[in-house]
Amino acid sequence: MSEEILNEKPLDFIREIVAEDIKNNKYPDGIVTRFPPEPNGYLHIGHAKAICLDFGVAEENNGICHLRMDDTNPTKEDMEYVESIIEDVKWLGFDPSHLYYASDYFEDMYNCAVKLIKKGLAYVCSLTPEEFEEYRGNSERVGRDTPGRSQSIEENLDLFERMRAGEFEDGSKVLRARIDMTSPNIHMRDPVIYRIRRIDHFRQGNKWCIYPMYDFAHCLEDAFEGVTHSFCTLEFEIHRPLYDWVLDNLDFKVRPYQHEFSRLSLSHTVMSKRKLLQLVKENYVRNWDDPRMPTICGMRRRGVTAAALRNFAKGLGITKFNGLTDMAVLEHCIREDLNKKASRYLAVLNPLKVTITNMADDFVDYLDGVNNPEDESAGTRKIPFTKHLYIEKTDFMVEPVKGYFRLAPGKEVRLRYAYFIKCEEFVTDENGEVIELKCTYDPETRGGNAPDGRKVKGTIHWVSADYCKEAEVRLYDRLFTVEQPGMGEEDFLTQLNPDSEKVASCYIEPALAEIKPYEVVQFERVGYFACDKDSTDEKRVFNRTVTLKDSWAKKQ
Ligand code: ATP
Ligand code: MG
Repeated sequence: MSEEILNEKPLDFIREIVAEDIKNNKYPDGIVTRFPPEPNGYLHIGHAKAICLDFGVAEENNGICHLRMDDTNPTKEDMEYVESIIEDVKWLGFDPSHLYYASDYFEDMYNCAVKLIKKGLAYVCSLTPEEFEEYRGNSERVGRDTPGRSQSIEENLDLFERMRAGEFEDGSKVLRARIDMTSPNIHMRDPVIYRIRRIDHFRQGNKWCIYPMYDFAHCLEDAFEGVTHSFCTLEFEIHRPLYDWVLDNLDFKVRPYQHEFSRLSLSHTVMSKRKLLQLVKENYVRNWDDPRMPTICGMRRRGVTAAALRNFAKGLGITKFNGLTDMAVLEHCIREDLNKKASRYLAVLNPLKVTITNMADDFVDYLDGVNNPEDESAGTRKIPFTKHLYIEKTDFMVEPVKGYFRLAPGKEVRLRYAYFIKCEEFVTDENGEVIELKCTYDPETRGGNAPDGRKVKGTIHWVSADYCKEAEVRLYDRLFTVEQPGMGEEDFLTQLNPDSEKVASCYIEPALAEIKPYEVVQFERVGYFACDKDSTDEKRVFNRTVTLKDSWAKKQ
């Protein structure tokens, strides 16, 4: 895994194509790419892969990458999605200022369709859906010529104009490209390029009642914008002949070409917008930006950095093989980046009370905490140390097992940034559960070292019970219990992990109560945590971004 990420790779096949085109001066005006999301949902980590490729290739070659809202299908599109897409692209570190809307080209697309009709390359078809299927054939049976094929150009021009004028019912007529009803590629058997749909468009209102189909619209959008290289996922490979057919039969200054690469599939999550929308609408998650969602906004809220996502995308490489990437690969990238950037703090999740018996009640010592050992410029902060402390329950054992170097009766440990303490006595409740430790501290060990050279093996974290604040932590795990939810007959909803979010309370050192939403820190020895936007002045809420180590592998 790490090898795959760390090794510098040779150019991938797409970058090789671009390099070759540049060498041959195929595009003297420069390289233009585009990222064309349909604004019918929030972007997810799969889109991040595409964004890094589209914007990356442009950037590396002094070109431009257009952000294009592919809004030609009015059914589920919305301005809310447009805004989130712009925000996410920007957050990922790319420039969303070359912004285009495919719906702005409706008139130009219409004119292109008219041109095709005039060339005898498109016709209006009035077959019913059943007849349509019958004439088209299937993979075993070639299609046969439709009645519309023999209409005159004048007839087709008239019918298409009347389609636009709203004279016909939804679904009663379509415009088809006149290609080849016997093609082995079903997409070439006179594909539909326009259909009638009386649905308001979120930007065009009711101006149009006919809308272009994806295969016709997309290549035109690329051509109108002077895109040179149009990257998309492998499922569009079989549509490429149609992409080329449309452009070859119309005349453009810059001729774009489509290249396909494998999509990202990530384990233990789903990526289809339909499924993500269902999770949101049916309240399985808090919203699109729920920290468990594979959406870019969800990851941001969880504390994942843009750099971690970019490194992850880079490490994936661009190939033509569809595979499944383990979530652990992503988590590795997140840890690697946060280790460099996140400030360290002390917080206790499962508190056990500690009383220092050889200390005055009003004693307070302010110790220096190193904010980030990986980054000196992050500075230090003061951490109050007092008679009453909390440590993690798991840092004490009545009967320590072999190799356990933390607290136990009669044993001594170092408190991070503070002193050595020694457990003199433990207090249990009526069930025999340990509820308090009575310890002594050695005032000579301030800062963590004993002047007599005495060594302790364990260092544990702690907070002052007198000064700490209470906070909420949301502990996240995989959203689904299986690697590929919804595979085969299974309904993906039945495979949701019931423990994907656990809410608990914890104690944090005072400095942590000042952290602002979206800031990510490390709780020492516990994990990386992002301050959530649900935080209030009284109570901070933290989302666990990742644990410090991969605990999933062990669990399985
Ligand atoms: P859905 O099918 O869930 O609606 P989509 O693929 O249709 O998603 P678009 O908004 O059309 O979503 O995608 C925009 C761009 O992002 C396309 O070029 C698409 O190929 C790419 N993309 C989408 N999902 C992935 C993925 N999982 N991996 C890589 N690229 C992706
Ligand atoms: Mg799509």
